[in-house]
Amino acid sequence: MAVQLYNSLTKKKETFVPIEEGKVKMYVCGPTVYNYIHIGNARPPIVYDMVRRYLEYRGYEVEFISNFTDVDDKIIRAAHELGEDVFAVANRFIEEYHNDTCALGVKKADKHPRVTETIPEIIDFVAKLIEKEYAYESGGDVYFRTKKFEGYGKLSSQAIDDLRSGARIEVDERKEDPLDFVLWKAAKEGEVSWESPWGHGRPGWHIECSAMVKKYLGDTIDIHAGGKDLSFPHHENEIAQSEALTGKTMANYWMHNGFININNEKMSKSLGNFVLAHDIIRQHSAEVVRFFMLTAHYRSPINFSDELLEGAKNGLERLRTAVSSLEHRLTESADYGEKEQWFAKISQFKETFIKEMDDDFNSANGISVLFDLAKEANRYLREEQTSKQVLQAFIDLFDELAGVLAIELRDQVELLDGEIESLIEQRNEARKSRDFKRADEIRDQLKEQGILLEDTAQGVRWKRG
Ligand SMILES: [Zn+2]
Repeated sequence: MAVQLYNSLTKKKETFVPIEEGKVKMYVCGPTVYNYIHIGNARPPIVYDMVRRYLEYRGYEVEFISNFTDVDDKIIRAAHELGEDVFAVANRFIEEYHNDTCALGVKKADKHPRVTETIPEIIDFVAKLIEKEYAYESGGDVYFRTKKFEGYGKLSSQAIDDLRSGARIEVDERKEDPLDFVLWKAAKEGEVSWESPWGHGRPGWHIECSAMVKKYLGDTIDIHAGGKDLSFPHHENEIAQSEALTGKTMANYWMHNGFININNEKMSKSLGNFVLAHDIIRQHSAEVVRFFMLTAHYRSPINFSDELLEGAKNGLERLRTAVSSLEHRLTESADYGEKEQWFAKISQFKETFIKEMDDDFNSANGISVLFDLAKEANRYLREEQTSKQVLQAFIDLFDELAGVLAIELRDQVELLDGEIESLIEQRNEARKSRDFKRADEIRDQLKEQGILLEDTAQGVRWKRG
């Protein structure tokens, strides 16, 4: 039995065969950091965290890289509007990204490279593409010569001529061909820039991922992943840049997760229905949001509404009740009754879980197995005589399988970073409205959990005691 995954490049489910036995090199496109992430941006970190954890559960050593786009038109615009420095804005939202995703149970990547740390590698990459005539300079910009790269369009299954006649391609006199895309942008007056062989400028968006993949993981990686919206042009351009340079396949498997709708509508600026992960974590709990996201297959679209989150919360509660009932019975149970038959039944659930998850990381079915396990546990708890060993076997399997999905089945003893920040925010609000009693209560509550607060001129700092 092996892991099967849907490869967006071949449009087929394939058996996963890594380049190096037992090892996985994986890259996930990260966010442009100019705001808190919305719930749509929270889906890739959660689902690819699940993929990473499952591959680790199946015995692979996973090297996991995810970037931050920390210089870009949007960040420059946001900094201008806020009257702040571009780097200060980027740094702040990188920190917020870590806070939110950590609350959502996402492990940090082995490395989160930033564009601003990768400039020499990007310049080198672009220079080599010019040498190989896959790119050309034009008025301080550098463009990729798309028609020279055979296979352009292979990921998004589009013929280059169809793309050329497509409405979204604008004619630009600086380009030889409307399909060419920018690798390096000449600096505009007063904009942040770096020195390059083509004058002062900064990288285009697509080149950073090609440069980072090469720098941290090598010419060919196992899995490249991101949201479905990145398939074209971002991933198509990444393939063109990387494969033109190295002559090798960039990634053997491409994974794309589905979109998120809000109350059955697409999230969009014009509808004004952007939901920030930051807010939703505070309204519902981060654990419920993660659980909810994983109740859908990662490739399926997912609809987000308060009602559906409420439903997920009830589901999670059902699993937690089963575990706490098992634990409760364990304290009073002796060792009675039939055992072997139950051990066999319990291990059957584990096999089913692995079978479902091996099938393109079907966490939706994986969670169904947890519900079936809870039903079986409740059935066992109705037996007159129960065995400590069987109870423990149920608990152990719950811990093992929920652990793979990073779903918390115990009432949280330790507070997550995001929850601490939220309590600190509530304490600040209480103090602002001169409700010192409430503010002190929150301080004490945090202290009980080993979190120490320090009031400084820059605001409240906290540390684990
Ligand atoms: Zn990317």
